[in-house]
Parts: sequence; C-alpha cells; structure tokens
Amino acid sequence: MEQQIKITRTSDSRLKDVDFDNIPLGTVFTDHMFICEYENGSWNNPRIEPLELIPTHPAAMALHYGQAIFEGMKATVGNDNTPLLFRPEENAKRFNHSARRMGMPTVPESLFVEAVAKIVGVEHSWIPPMEGSALYLRPFMYADEPFIGMRAATSYKFIVICSPAGPFFTKKIRLYAETEYIRAADGGTGEAKAAGNYAAAILPTEKAKAKGYDQVLWLDANEHKYVQEVGTMNIFFKVEGKFITPSTDGSILKGITRDSVITLLKDKGFEVTERPITIDEVIEFSKQGKLEEAFGTGTAVAIAMVEAIGYNDEVITLPSENPVSQDMKKTMDEIKTQKQADNHGWIIPVQVEEEVS
Ligand SMILES: *Cc1c(COP(=O)(O)O)cnc(C)c1O
Repeated sequence: MEQQIKITRTSDSRLKDVDFDNIPLGTVFTDHMFICEYENGSWNNPRIEPLELIPTHPAAMALHYGQAIFEGMKATVGNDNTPLLFRPEENAKRFNHSARRMGMPTVPESLFVEAVAKIVGVEHSWIPPMEGSALYLRPFMYADEPFIGMRAATSYKFIVICSPAGPFFTKKIRLYAETEYIRAADGGTGEAKAAGNYAAAILPTEKAKAKGYDQVLWLDANEHKYVQEVGTMNIFFKVEGKFITPSTDGSILKGITRDSVITLLKDKGFEVTERPITIDEVIEFSKQGKLEEAFGTGTAVAIAMVEAIGYNDEVITLPSENPVSQDMKKTMDEIKTQKQADNHGWIIPVQVEEEVS
C-alpha cells in the first residue's frame, strides 16, 4: 500500500476494566479503531486512533438510503502468543463484492488486510486467551455524504472496530423455517453483507423467538421451498453419513466458515454435496431417521448445532448426539489457535505493534 497507517495511541487504556471471564456480548470495544475516508475517488489518511464518537451529518446518506456494508472476522492467539487472523483476504474479497453490489467504492484488498492486521497488532492484548474466545473484528463501510437524493454517495468511511468475545454459547439452536417473510430474492442483495439485509430480518427473527425458536431458517423467495441459510450462518445437514449444504445461488451469503468446513469435511473423508435442498426433503429425511446432524456455520459461533426445526405445524427434532458437528467445531477452534496443523494456509500471523513511549 502506498500510504502508511498512522497510529495514535490512547493514554488511557480501558483494558484493565475488562473481566475476560465474563465478557458481555458485543458491548465492549477496544481502545482504538482503524478509520479512513473515501473522497475524490480515493481512500485517504488511513489511521488508527482512539475509538471515539464520529460526528454525523443528519443527511448522511447511509442513514437514509442504506449504503452500508460490513464484515465479521476473528483474531485469536496461537503459539508463543502470536496474534492470528483466519483467511482475512477472503473477507477483503467479500467486502468488495458487497461494495460493488451496493454501488459503493471498493477498498484495495491490501489496505483491507493491512487495516485489520494493524488494528489487531495494536489491540493484541485484548484478544481473550480462553478456549473458544477471540477478538471479534468488525470492518464496515458507510456513505457519509450529506445529500438528499437517490444516487451513489461520493464520500464514505471505512472503519474497523474490535470487540472481545467470550466463548459463544454452545447451546443448540432451534430453527423456524419461515414461509411468510423472505431474506433474499433472485437479483437482490442476499449475497452482500449489506446492513439492510439484517434490518429486514429483525422482525421475522423476533417473531420466531416469540414462538420459541432462536433463529429463522430462510427459504427461497419464489416458492418458499428451498432452504437457504440461517440468521448469519450457512447450514449443513448430515444425511446417512454424507453432508449436504445449499448451493450458493446468488441469494445466499458465501460464508468463509462454510467454505472452510466443506474443505475440512472432505479432508476427513466425508462426501459433501452442494445442491438445492428443499425443506420437505429435510423433514422427510428426519421422519425416515436419515437426518443425523444439522449445524449452522459462521464466524461468530463457528459451528452451531441444530436441535430442532419448526416448519408450518411440524417440529422435527435432531438426534441428541452430533459427533461430526462437535469434531468440526473442535477442529476449527484448534486450527485457529494453532493446536492443530493448518494444512490449507488459512492462518496469518500478525505482527504486534509495540508501544513506543
Ligand atoms: C456472515 C454471514 C454468514 C457466515 O459467513 P462467515 O464468513 O462464515 O462468517 C452466513 N450468512 C449470513 C447471512 C451472514 O451474514
């Protein structure tokens, strides 16, 4: 990258106030953020500075027209306390894929990866060391140009904030197959990690929760027939010893965990097929006793075992044992902490940014 990322440190770290054994989810942020601005066709002044409020014009276009995208990734600690990133270049590529769909400028992949690595290098002491814990990273971009009118904005902010995350609840999840609302339609924005997708999912998710479920299992927009994905996770089913997962059809978010799990399952000798999967098929497999395991995959939880799926008036319950899901969770965790070999070159060590005083 042409421009150096300038680092300005806080003189008043809040790290000492954090109880790593008891981290409330998504409410604790590290001392610094990465920030840079897009104007006149280029990204300017990339820097790391103390995290603070950002003055926002009431006409900032993201607030009105929703040009806002994000990524989610995790930093862990490996051997000799080295901070690690997991496939960050994949997040960079997907960020730009999202940006293009939303008519936003792309960020050079090298700037994205360097921004993420640099903030982790500065905040490395914030990576919780306990098993299953990590420093959650949230790169995001939004249109901050003050303008009333429908067109692509001309100015944007690209920011990375970090939030320490304890071991995510390993409770099994109950899914509600949604037949009224949809998440993504052909030609829509389902393949982008765009803020608006999640806004539209909030009401259906709240309704599913009121019915006693944890998350929505999204079905396709045309026929409410094909399984797409879950909340912020992709979905896998184990049927008679083999795995199936919905093929990415343009409406499904291409999860990096999904991709990694497909590779790891194949490494372990499992057959994995990406294909359209109907909800009726899933129900039928369950009734025939062929549905052995189901799990969601995503950066936040890695692997979330499915306990039950509700569909219309039926509820199918998964077997209580899920050995392969458990093994996948462990394998992902151990690769990310260098307790298992990283045979695919997924782990990127990060250089610690020493404090100079
Ligand atoms: C982020 C996300 C996923 C999972 O992607 P990962 O790269 O595995 O974290 C799946 N579905 C949706 C809708 C998402 O937003």
